[in-house]
Amino acid sequence: MAHSHPAQAADSRPGRTALITGISGQDGSYLADSLLADGYEVHGIVRSSIEENLPLIGGREGLTLHTLDLLAPGELELLVARLQPNEIYSLAAVSSVFESWRSPQLTGAVNGQVVVRLLDSAHTLQEAVGRPVHLVHASSAEIFGQAADSPQTEETSIRPTSPYGASKAYAHLSVGVFRGRSLSASNCILYNHESPRRPETFVTRKITAGVARIKRGLQETIELGNLDARRDWGWAPDYVQAMRLAAAAPESGDFVIATGVAHTIGEFLDAAFSRVGISDWSKLVKQNPEFVRPVDPSEQRGDASKAAEVLGWRPTVGFEAIVQRMVDNDLALIDAAQSSGRPVDE
Ligand code: NDP
Repeated sequence: MAHSHPAQAADSRPGRTALITGISGQDGSYLADSLLADGYEVHGIVRSSIEENLPLIGGREGLTLHTLDLLAPGELELLVARLQPNEIYSLAAVSSVFESWRSPQLTGAVNGQVVVRLLDSAHTLQEAVGRPVHLVHASSAEIFGQAADSPQTEETSIRPTSPYGASKAYAHLSVGVFRGRSLSASNCILYNHESPRRPETFVTRKITAGVARIKRGLQETIELGNLDARRDWGWAPDYVQAMRLAAAAPESGDFVIATGVAHTIGEFLDAAFSRVGISDWSKLVKQNPEFVRPVDPSEQRGDASKAAEVLGWRPTVGFEAIVQRMVDNDLALIDAAQSSGRPVDE
């Protein structure tokens, strides 16, 4: 059964309506911020509407949260038919490669089948209302896996190396299939993008939170996997902007969203430790084989020329600035907790 929880009842203001799955995550929360700022009526699907589970979105005018199990047959379909959104953003996912190896079946269901059901619902709605319904799927660089070429483009072969990559590939290809049935459906092929809203289950935030705790004397070392893995890291709000541009584009399509510059985890560590004045971190980082991926993809580096040309999209924040903002935020969180007498998580 679907439940609606108007954070503030959606008013009757004329305008555009957007539906977001995964609104409680890093990107979903930035996307909600951006759409609300532009006067959209925003609907988000959450697993649990308990306020403390939704620190990134909370209650705001124009935002309605719907508590719904995405895997429950029929509920998502009913909600799409009832809300009749102009734009649908498909962001909900088991979003970590590491987690996908632990739960490959759930990953396939959430990242794959739910997206296909959303596409089908959007298509049914579009036929019923006789106006375009724009759907944007958060596809991933992980669909390329062991790509032969670097940088990768929209034409690079799809060869995933993890359950996460395979589930995203299924959804990605399905977006193309529904586009072939005249649905305005786009894939943003997202490369890694970070922010202070990234959970600590991801390596970047694990590093910046760990560096902040080491600096404040609350932790001794950080345990990581492969320090040589190369990734193309961007700024999350920029990537959310790309999704909005894709939804507004006159023609739907696939768009690589990336900075075009790759760095190693070691370089991320350099930038994070140097922000707190530590130049030699060799004794502060321990390699733990448990965190090494079973199969690591080749260099992930995207060529976003098509997004630049067709959508007018460009990244606005560089690598060093991203790392610095994340470290500064983690230091500020510790300092705020300490000055208010709250315990600092270790
Ligand atoms: P997050 O992990 O921050 O957010 C994931 C969202 O999906 C959360 O709202 C989460 O809900 C929801 N979700 C997870 N599992 C389920 C489930 N079983 N049922 C319902 N909802 C679920 O991810 P990001 O915001 O970083 O990423 C957004 C999208 O972009 C994802 O699809 C991700 O795969 C994709 N992407 C992200 C990249 C990145 O670097 N951030 C790179 C490439 C692609 P809850 O809060 O309840 O857990």
